[in-house]
Amino acid sequence: MSASCCGTTASLELEQTVNSGATSALPVAVIGAGPVGLAAAAHLAERGQDFLVLEAGEQVAVSVAKWGHVRVFSPWKYNIDAAAQRLLQADGWTAPDPDWLPTGAELIDDYLAPLAKLFGDKIRLGARVSAISRLGYDRVRTNGREDAPFLIRLESGEELQARAVVDASGTYTNPNVLGASGLPAHGENTVGADHALPDVLGADRERYEGKHTLVVGAGHSAATTLLALAQLEDTPITWAIRAGSAGRTYGGGDADALPARGALGTRLRAHVDSDRIRLLTGFFVHSVTTDSEQATVISRDPSGAEQSVTVDRIVAATGYRPDHSIASELRLDLDPILGSTRQLAPLIDPNQHSCGTVPAHGADELAHPEPGYYAVGVKSYGRAPTFLMATGYEQVRSVVAALAGDWEAARNVQLDLPETGVCSSSLAEAQEQRLGLATGISGGLLAAPLPLATVSASNGGGCCG
Ligand SMILES: Cc1cc2nc3c(=O)[nH]c(=O)nc-3n(C[C@H](O)[C@H](O)[C@H](O)COP(=O)(O)OP(=O)(O)OC[C@H]3O[C@@H](n4cnc5c(N)ncnc54)[C@H](O)[C@@H]3O)c2cc1C
Repeated sequence: MSASCCGTTASLELEQTVNSGATSALPVAVIGAGPVGLAAAAHLAERGQDFLVLEAGEQVAVSVAKWGHVRVFSPWKYNIDAAAQRLLQADGWTAPDPDWLPTGAELIDDYLAPLAKLFGDKIRLGARVSAISRLGYDRVRTNGREDAPFLIRLESGEELQARAVVDASGTYTNPNVLGASGLPAHGENTVGADHALPDVLGADRERYEGKHTLVVGAGHSAATTLLALAQLEDTPITWAIRAGSAGRTYGGGDADALPARGALGTRLRAHVDSDRIRLLTGFFVHSVTTDSEQATVISRDPSGAEQSVTVDRIVAATGYRPDHSIASELRLDLDPILGSTRQLAPLIDPNQHSCGTVPAHGADELAHPEPGYYAVGVKSYGRAPTFLMATGYEQVRSVVAALAGDWEAARNVQLDLPETGVCSSSLAEAQEQRLGLATGISGGLLAAPLPLATVSASNGGGCCG
């Protein structure tokens, strides 16, 4: 929230408390070494703030690595944080072609891995955070709370202390369930559905070739997987969506504002029309049963009507949700719908915004009643599927400025996305011929048109009604 917005009183309180004395010798803990956690590290390094990045995986950006075969839709120039770029260039790194769309693997190889190398032992791999609290304080105890260090417990049992926590732990490892009502379908936990975006034409090919595969979900990840599966011979494909039609996934076809997106939608529709892909609409996954070979997925719609399909493989492409359980001893102010902060929720509401129209935001909008704890990156958006790396980079620039006591910089939030869009349609069209595009998020090539504009705190939407 900008200084002109209605959270000013809370912000000033926060300003006084996160910088108070007793904990100042401790490092800032960054949870997660994905694109946004590493960008936070770059900003902390530039500002001379002590920090430690705790990464659960045995390599940095392990979640990105899981979708390494997928080509993103935003070109390099929007995928590199400015502070990271400055540090890398000072080390002799050459930036990739700013207009090229990298795969997840290229993001790591050409940017994130070299960046992480600069931080040496300030990044700890294999360090999964299992809980965060304040030393000597449970969630209820108040007096002196803001002066107590954060206590971070790792899965190994080791405990660390920090003066602030930047939680960039993402959502990728916490996919939504198959069950249509947000609860796991009966039997879901025993069936072993595959995570969204398997590498159907690469490493996972054998797993799918010749196997009847059910893809559940109506987003870009589902579309990408379906188009890849359609290239496998003798591989029956069923696609199940809750909606009564797949119109939203198809996009605008030939009339679409983004040609590549339209082309993908058109191809998907053609596969459905030709029965290469069998589409089941109004499919509300209710239960799954298995025998040794196959799984039967049963839909029960709100009226009680049932339909079912028996398949060899299930791909759950139903999106992601944040896991706030590691911070359950902290005082969080979560939006009841999205699970973002309440101040951020109206700015990222997927009913109002695509990824390119989310206004710039920073420390104020990301603040919780727990001073010094910020969830950033895709986790900060909760269930809103509108996140962009570029937005996350501005978040951490602002948060780190706040942690360094530079509130002027923290509140001067800017996002410079071009009016013509973060999605480069001609490049995308050329490149997707080779690999297929997917985003896992709204605002990708199969979403509604992206009317991107240069946005800043001054023209941000929806503050305080
Ligand atoms: C297929 C796909 C395509 C996308 N394409 C684009 C695109 O084109 N452009 C764009 O701007 N955005 C895109 N996004 C959205 C978003 O930018 C990415 O998801 C990005 O990786 C988010 O970065 P992050 O750092 O917030 O989280 P992540 O990349 O998810 O990183 C989180 C890190 O935290 C670690 N972690 C998790 N839990 C713990 C724990 N308890 N303790 C320690 N470490 C932990 C994880 O191992 C991981 O390394 C895409 C997303 C997907 C899934």
